[in-house]
Amino acid sequence: MKFLVALVLVVFANNVTAKKSYRGHRLMSVKAADKQQLDVLEHMMKTAEPWLDIWSYPVVNRTAVFRVPPSSYGMFMSRMGLANISVTLMENDVEDFLKRSSLPVSGPHAETSPFSGWTGGFTTHTYYKRYGEIVSLLTGMGNTFTSLVKEVGVLNTQTYEGRTISYIRFGTPGDKPVIFIEGLIHAREWIVGGTVMYFMDRLVSRYSLDADAKFLLDTYDIYVVPVANPDGYEYSHTSQRLWRKNRSSHRNGCRGVDLNRNFDAFWRTEGVSTNCNSDIYCGPSVFSEAEAQGIRNKVAEINTGGQRLHAYLAVHSYSQLVLTPYSYDYVKPDNYAEIESAAAAMTQALRLPFNTDYTWGHGPTTLYPVSGASDDWAMLGGGARYTYTYELRPKEANFEISPTNIIPNGYEFWLSVVALGCNMNGVSATCDF
Ligand SMILES: [Zn+2]
Repeated sequence: MKFLVALVLVVFANNVTAKKSYRGHRLMSVKAADKQQLDVLEHMMKTAEPWLDIWSYPVVNRTAVFRVPPSSYGMFMSRMGLANISVTLMENDVEDFLKRSSLPVSGPHAETSPFSGWTGGFTTHTYYKRYGEIVSLLTGMGNTFTSLVKEVGVLNTQTYEGRTISYIRFGTPGDKPVIFIEGLIHAREWIVGGTVMYFMDRLVSRYSLDADAKFLLDTYDIYVVPVANPDGYEYSHTSQRLWRKNRSSHRNGCRGVDLNRNFDAFWRTEGVSTNCNSDIYCGPSVFSEAEAQGIRNKVAEINTGGQRLHAYLAVHSYSQLVLTPYSYDYVKPDNYAEIESAAAAMTQALRLPFNTDYTWGHGPTTLYPVSGASDDWAMLGGGARYTYTYELRPKEANFEISPTNIIPNGYEFWLSVVALGCNMNGVSATCDF
C-alpha cells in the first residue's frame, strides 16, 4: 500500500509542469526621440540581447512597451542610459500585474457588465477555453447545425508537437465568396479565442432569429481557424502565460517561430529577427512552419477552380485597432479606397454598442511595418480583395484581460464582420449596416 501511494505521488509529480513566474519582471515604457535612438532599440529586438519581450513596438516619438526580465535589466538600463533614451517604469512586477488584470474591472471601456444582449446559445462564454474544448465545440456545431456548417476538419499539416489544426466552414448551400477568419496565431492573445468563439456561436444559434446572421450565412462561406497556433496556445496555458510563438525547435534548443512573420510576403525584410531567441523570429525559411503551410494550403484549396477568397481577417490583441494593408511597408494596394471605406464601417460597428475606443489605420503607419504576415500573404498570394488585422481589447498594454470581456468584445467583433460583409464590393448582397 505504501508502495502504491509512493507510485501515485511520483506519477502525479511528473504530470505537474512548473509554470513560469514573472516575479520581478518589469514593464518599461520607452520612447525613441529620433532615428538613432530607434536604431538602438531595433538592434536589441533583432539580436535579442538583452532579451526583451516586445509588447508595443518602438517607433520614433511613440511609446514602446517592453517586458524586461531581471536578468536583462542591468544591460537594458545601461544601453538606455548610453543612448540617452527616456525610460519609464510602468509595472515593477508582471506576475502581480497579470493577476490583477485577470479580475473583472469596472470603468470606462473595460467591459460592459451586466451585458444586456445575447450571451450565448451553443456554449457559454465566461472563461478562456483550452484547445481541446474548442475542437470539441467545432465538432458539436457541425453535428448540431447540419444545414449551416458545411465542414469541420483539420488543415493538412501537423504541428511540431503533433497536433492537428482544426477549422470549420459555415454557409448555406452553394459556393460563395469566402471570408476567412484566423485566430490565435499568437499564443498569448487569449481574448481572440473567446471573441471568435462567440462570433461562431452567434452565427449558427441566431440564423433563424437575426437578419444579420442570416445575411452572413446566405451571402458568404465563412472559414474559421480559431486556434492557428495550438502548440503555443496550450503552452501559454500550461507553462508560460506570455508565450507568443509556436513551439518548433531550432539550434541550441531554442524554441519557436513567430508565425505571423513566416508567410510569403516580402519574408525577412522588415520588422523581423533572424535570431530564434527573439519573439519576432521569422523562421529558417519562408513557410518553414506547419501552421503557416496549413493555412496556405487551405486557401489554395478554396481558390481551386477560381478565386473565392474575398476577405481575410487576422485577429490579434491588444490595442483596439483595425489595420489595413499592406503591412510589410508604407505602401497600399491599388484598391485601397474600397478597403478604407469598409474599415471605416467596421470601426464604426466596433464602437457602436459600448462606444469602445476602436480606431482604424494603415498598418505600418499606425503600428510599424511587418513582413511575412498572414494578412499580406492572403492578398499577395491568396488573392483576397480585402484583408484586415484586428487588434482587439484592451487598449492599453496587456495580454491578460478578464474573461468578462469575451461577450462584449465578441459582440463588437460580430457587428464589425456584419459591417464588413455589408460594405464589400464584388459581392451581390442586400443588407443595411
Ligand atoms: Zn498578435
